Amino acid sequence: MQRGSASLIDHLATVRTDSLVREPERLDAAFGETDGNGLADATASAGDHDNLTFYVHKGFASSDAGFRSFGQCPCLLQSKPRFRGVVFLDGLLFGKHDSAVSSCLVRRGTMSFHSKDSREPLSVIAAAFDQFEVRDLTHILEEGIPYFPTHGRFYHLDASRSDDPAVMFQILMHEHNGTHVDAPAHFMSGVPDSDHDFLHSVPPDKLIGPAAVIDVSKNPPHLLTVESLLKWEKANGAIEPGEAVIFNFGWHRKWRTGIEGKAFVEQWPGVDRGVAKCLLDRRVRAVGTDCLGLDCSGSAENPAHDCLLRNGILIMENMAALDGLPQRVFLIAAPLKIRGGSGSPIRAIALVPKAVENGR
Ligand SMILES: [Zn+2]
Repeated sequence: MQRGSASLIDHLATVRTDSLVREPERLDAAFGETDGNGLADATASAGDHDNLTFYVHKGFASSDAGFRSFGQCPCLLQSKPRFRGVVFLDGLLFGKHDSAVSSCLVRRGTMSFHSKDSREPLSVIAAAFDQFEVRDLTHILEEGIPYFPTHGRFYHLDASRSDDPAVMFQILMHEHNGTHVDAPAHFMSGVPDSDHDFLHSVPPDKLIGPAAVIDVSKNPPHLLTVESLLKWEKANGAIEPGEAVIFNFGWHRKWRTGIEGKAFVEQWPGVDRGVAKCLLDRRVRAVGTDCLGLDCSGSAENPAHDCLLRNGILIMENMAALDGLPQRVFLIAAPLKIRGGSGSPIRAIALVPKAVENGR
């Protein structure tokens, strides 16, 4: 095998991954008789290759030993900003292999498959799910929950009828009650209505993807500045394009129904315009907070709403149960498809690798 590692990597770096997937014979030519161990060597030597975004491997399923050595390679274990994932051909990846390796790969994202069996990619997703714990980041919608001072309340009304045996209720609520997302159109003054992005035109995958969790709950400032954000990046790796960012101010701990929830709607913290601009520069897909708003209470200009929503970056508010999350999770959330909607409740969940859960 021992083809020159550099030539293999050079080859992969110059070919688009999707064309490789469509043309497996080109892969065969690139890999020759490469086995897993050989690829580990090649990958380790590719760590500084600026243009490489995907490694492509054929035949992991046939080589557990090779898979493990690949998983231990420094490129996978250290964060490489340009490292986007691994494309596997020929077979299953998850379930058979060491969970630390699997979650390590998943954290780095995208995978593609080339298989004649259409069930195969689905079984990989199902097996991958087993590697994660599902955390619910959503407050319960119920009467008496805290609500923004200028908004309406949440009502859950009896809608049963004597001529219908079904148990049913009618919901009457504000779009921005509970754990919810703001559509871009929520804050776009000075822009014609036709240019507003309301919820019905927001793509369904907008809130699905990797998310950075920034925990400032130990000592939450009233107004988070960009210095804190940069400090977090220094310790945890740069926020990448397409990531969501979730701020944990510890505010979700104040969530209560009734009068006990009063503290939640007073003096909540937020981020300043510098943070919003920085996240815009990073090209994040969405920004979340456990507070009533991403801008702090009393903000007259709402700079974070203005900056982010104007540029199509969604804002999630009133997020729950953010304590104890690792610095990076996989976020899955979806708003209701409301025509002309400025906001909608979401069920937000985070997938947390079990390997991280167990402190590995
Ligand atoms: Zn809102």
